[in-house]
Amino acid sequence: MIKSPFYLIALMILGLGCGQPHSKQVTPGIDDLAKQYVHLGLVIGQYDEAFVDAYYGPEDLKPASVPSSVFPKDSLINEVRILKSALGSLISEDTAVLHRAAWLMDQLISFERRIKIFAGEYDLFDNESEDLFGTNAPVFNENYYNILVDALDNKLPGDGTVQERFQALANRFIIPKDKLDTVFRASIAECRKRTLAHYKLPEEEDFALEFVTNKSWNGYNWYKGNYQSLIQINTDLDIFIDRAIDVGSHESYPGHHVYNMLLEKNLYRDKGLVEFSIYPLYSPQSLIAEGSANYGIDVVFPGKDKVDFAREVLLPLAGLDTIGIGLYFDALDTKGKLNYVRNDVGRGLLSGAMTEEEALRWLETYGLYNHETAVKSISFIRNQRSYVINYNHGMDVVARYIEKNGGNDPAIRWKVFETLLSQQIRVIDLVSGMQ
Ligand SMILES: [Zn+2]
Repeated sequence: MIKSPFYLIALMILGLGCGQPHSKQVTPGIDDLAKQYVHLGLVIGQYDEAFVDAYYGPEDLKPASVPSSVFPKDSLINEVRILKSALGSLISEDTAVLHRAAWLMDQLISFERRIKIFAGEYDLFDNESEDLFGTNAPVFNENYYNILVDALDNKLPGDGTVQERFQALANRFIIPKDKLDTVFRASIAECRKRTLAHYKLPEEEDFALEFVTNKSWNGYNWYKGNYQSLIQINTDLDIFIDRAIDVGSHESYPGHHVYNMLLEKNLYRDKGLVEFSIYPLYSPQSLIAEGSANYGIDVVFPGKDKVDFAREVLLPLAGLDTIGIGLYFDALDTKGKLNYVRNDVGRGLLSGAMTEEEALRWLETYGLYNHETAVKSISFIRNQRSYVINYNHGMDVVARYIEKNGGNDPAIRWKVFETLLSQQIRVIDLVSGMQ
């Protein structure tokens, strides 16, 4: 059985009483503190089902006790603070140890914030994102979005509003339901082939693909450990051709599936960093996960490769006409820049400064969402709150880091990207571009 945090803290207090605050016998080392971090994350996950996204660590770190019927907010926050205090008082001349401690501290700040949110204790959008994901996203006003939408206005043919004309173009590329499996598998296979040309992945790595309904998200990678992923696609709404590329790269190669494998292989199994056997969803790790998964689309399909692959392979498999596909991907680039609208809507909606009607108008006008997708997006924002910054701001943070350290050479970008996905990096260092 593992030592409970209280047992270790009691030892520390005894140590302090004896005038031996840093004695090796009484002060837990970084490995012990990392185990306590994992255990605490699993305890929180007994209450908050979304908290632990993946766990493939030792059985004996799992909580032995049955969770109480009432969410023990105060005692969990207390445990987080005790662990932070122990990490803060860790003495070491080893910079790797100090770096681990600082990384764990960042994660624990997110634990405390998530515990409060789960208990219904909310704060401003930016305060929550700062604690949960280690940063906050820039704020844009309507003028910023209007300039981008106006630029698109000049490119899109036909009559009606920009949103209507974008939608008319997009509707040409809806994948028929009976072709989804074929098209998605072809895209994942291509992304895997391209990734394997640059990375050596564990031989046993694999994934399962499932189609589901009634979810607030569009797609999800459930990482199972031992280099296996379950990728689920929500078919509630129409699925457009670009989603196939998104699932192939964002959810799979070199996105979430590869990121999780590299963490498991390089950090947990090879280096023995037990903190990487758990993936807490509402933590700085998700800024890196979503940001790199979105940026990974451009790593695997640089330049015009994405359009060419859709035209030559995916659209024929889906039985769809290729006319307009270049313009569609061009419009999607602008739509990507407009993705920040979700943050601004989140800020307004969650603080009560924006009505749901106004939020829908922003999403439809500035995000180019159709009505049903805008409604779904509001449900996602209400559920996931500031998590939305990870997709846009997270991607831009990762992009700046990769481009600063890898330039525009596609081969070097693959290398820097792999290094980023394989290291214990703090968001503060990612934002500042350190490698
Ligand atoms: Zn994702």
